[in-house]
Parts: sequence; C-alpha cells; structure tokens
Amino acid sequence: MINKQIYLKSGKEQSLKRFHPWVFSGAIARKKGTLFEGDTVEVFTSEGSYLATGHWSPGSIAVRIFSFTQCIPDRDFFRTKLKNALLYRQSTTLFSDTSTNVWRMVHGEGDGLPGLIVDIYDNVAVMQAHTAGFWHLREMLAGLILEVMGERIVAVYDKSEATLPFMAGLGAENGYLAGEYHGNDAVVVENGLKFRINWQTGQKTGFFIDQRDNRELLSHYTTGRSVLNMFGYTGGFSVYAMRNAAAVHTVDSSPIATSLADENVKMNFSDDPRHKSITADAFSYLNEMKPEYDLIILDPPAFAKHQNVLANALQGYRRINAMALKKIKPGGILFTFSCSQVVSRDDFRKTIFVAAANSGRRVRIMHQMSQPPDHPVNIYHPESEYLKGLVLHVE
Ligand code: SAH
Repeated sequence: MINKQIYLKSGKEQSLKRFHPWVFSGAIARKKGTLFEGDTVEVFTSEGSYLATGHWSPGSIAVRIFSFTQCIPDRDFFRTKLKNALLYRQSTTLFSDTSTNVWRMVHGEGDGLPGLIVDIYDNVAVMQAHTAGFWHLREMLAGLILEVMGERIVAVYDKSEATLPFMAGLGAENGYLAGEYHGNDAVVVENGLKFRINWQTGQKTGFFIDQRDNRELLSHYTTGRSVLNMFGYTGGFSVYAMRNAAAVHTVDSSPIATSLADENVKMNFSDDPRHKSITADAFSYLNEMKPEYDLIILDPPAFAKHQNVLANALQGYRRINAMALKKIKPGGILFTFSCSQVVSRDDFRKTIFVAAANSGRRVRIMHQMSQPPDHPVNIYHPESEYLKGLVLHVE
C-alpha cells in the first residue's frame, strides 16, 4: 500500500482505463499526503477504485504510470520490468542480427516505464532519466541493468544531467553508476558498419539508434547517386550511402558533428574522396546549392518540443522540404523525417504535401518510415510514435 494518493475528477478515469500512461494535472480532484517531485503515487477514481501507480511531477503531466495493477514498486518489481524489456527485444529481428551491437533496451512508455531510456553501446549501458522518479531510483536501476544483462555488459553510465526537469533542481551529474569501464566512448557496429560513439559528449545518449532500419533502407537507393545528407550529425546516413554512392556530402551546422562524420566515414572507407563534409546552416546551404544531388536526406532536430510551437515547426518542415524538392534532380529521391513527438504522422504528411505542391514537382510516396522494434510504440499512447519519415520519388 502506498500512502500518497491521487483522486481523479469524476469521468476523468477513461484514458487510464484505456491504459494511456499519463495523468494530466487538470484531471486531478484531490491529493492525499504531501507530494514531492518523483514520489510514487497511486491513482484512484473519484469513488475510490484503484486505477494505476506511477511517478508524480508538478507539471502538466502530473503522473507517469508504470503499473495498472496494484503493486509494491520494489527491486523485484523493476527487475521483472527490465527482464521483460530484454525478453521483448530478444523476440525481435534485432537479436538474430549479429552485425549490430547498438540498440535500445528500454524505451519509456513503449516499455511501460515512462521517463526511462536505456541504450546499449556494445558492452556499456547508457541510462537516461527524464523524471525525478526514475532519477531517485538510478542506483538500484543501474544494479538491476547489470544483473539482467549479465555478461553482455560491463558498466552502466547515467546521462540524466540535461534530461531531468530543470525546476526539480536535482543537481544530477553524468557518470558511471555500476560496473567498470575506462573512458566514455566505444566503436560500435550497426549493420556491419563501424561508428565511434561518445556518450559523454554526444547528443542524446550518443547516437540516433532509432534510424537504424531507415539507414539500411537508404543504402538500397544510393547506388551510383550523388547524395546530400543534411543534418548529418555522426554521419549515420552518410556511412551507409558510402557503400555504393557516387558522391556523399554531409552538412551540419556544428563543426563537432562534421568532424565526427568524417571520422566515421574514414573508419569504414579510409580516405575515400567520394565523401566531403561541409559545416553550414541547412537553410542557407539548400538555398545556395546548385541542383547537383539526386538523393537528399533531411533529418532535422525536433523543430517542435511543445504543442504551443507546433505551427512554427510545421512551417519549418514545409520550408526546408520545399527547398529540397525544388533543387533535387529529376528522378531524384528524398528521405525526409520528423522526430517531433507533437507532430503527428498526419500533420507531417500534410506538410510535405504542401511543400510538394509549392515546388511544382510531381511527387510520389515510395516508403513510409517509422522507428525500429527496439523503440516500440505503445498502442495506447500514440505520442510514442515520434519518428516519422517518407521516401519520395520526385520527377
Ligand atoms: N541524421 C542524424 C541525426 C540528426 S540530429 C543521424 O542519423 O544521426 C540533428 C543535427 O542537426 C545535429 O547534429 C545538429 O547539429 C544539426 N543542426 C541543427 N540545426 C541545424 C541547421 N540549422 N543547419 C544544419 N544543421 C543543423
């Protein structure tokens, strides 16, 4: 029995009954006990029937649910959750693939653990808490990740410093929590290609693991083509394109990113003159470039992190896609993505439709892309389908 409790307003229990894992602050009628950010709370209907258990936050998402059955969320409870996350991944195509050792072990809501991310980089797990609730449990979770993963990993690194709610003032510092590992980087393998990942200095936990299947798809279209990888970061798409393209240009506004892309291309293809990195702003580059590319990848950072900037974000996607569609060579192919959680698949497709219409080109959808099975979408939580992409054929 948990002595911190939340009672919902009458009629506000429907979404929890459909297993949506968030309780919004507006749905709450009253609280029992003094609640601190990160506390475990039980949620009840207005009549007092148990609904769910989760972590409390003072923001608009007030409770993130990790159980819909009454439970004691102790070490055994979270061990079972982590074991299930691993078992699930062992049932996917990922595990029959020995040419990949970088994958996501825990994907927040997709694994019934909203606020927790765990990524595996060969033999190191990088854990990221997005809520005070999971940050308070970090030592226990790190021990459990080591235990559940067994000989697969040697250490667990916590990278929660920048992802915890700022107002919580937790003073988190990134660092190792369990096991032993020297340094903060490793060379990992994805579909047989090598990448140097630094989880201390890299974006997110170090690598955009969610694009694995889309990068593999890309290399089926790059043979003999001249490729522009816009927002290239570690050069993920560029390295795959180098398997067979005629030329590959990586553009990123960050010089750290372009040098990472150079290093990763070099590790796989040595000093191959087909690759060039350019440090530049994407909008200016697209505006000034000649129509020299027959395949363009647009994988920008999330233009919208919050619902209130959605309109601006859609305008950003429309502008950049219209520019690429205008400049791509006839018969060209555009791989275009949005990783904003607040931009729905439908919004994104409509935006690309407007960009295509503005460009005056004839455009067909060849593939609709999403996230791989180690980033599962919780069907009761459509927001967890954050990665959307289209492969377009442009006449
Ligand atoms: N495609 C990458 C991930 C992209 S992350 C992959 O597969 O790993 C987004 C990248 O966009 C970051 O590296 C960031 O430095 C870059 N970026 C952000 N704003 C930019 C801009 N205006 N012009 C060019 N690059 C930009």
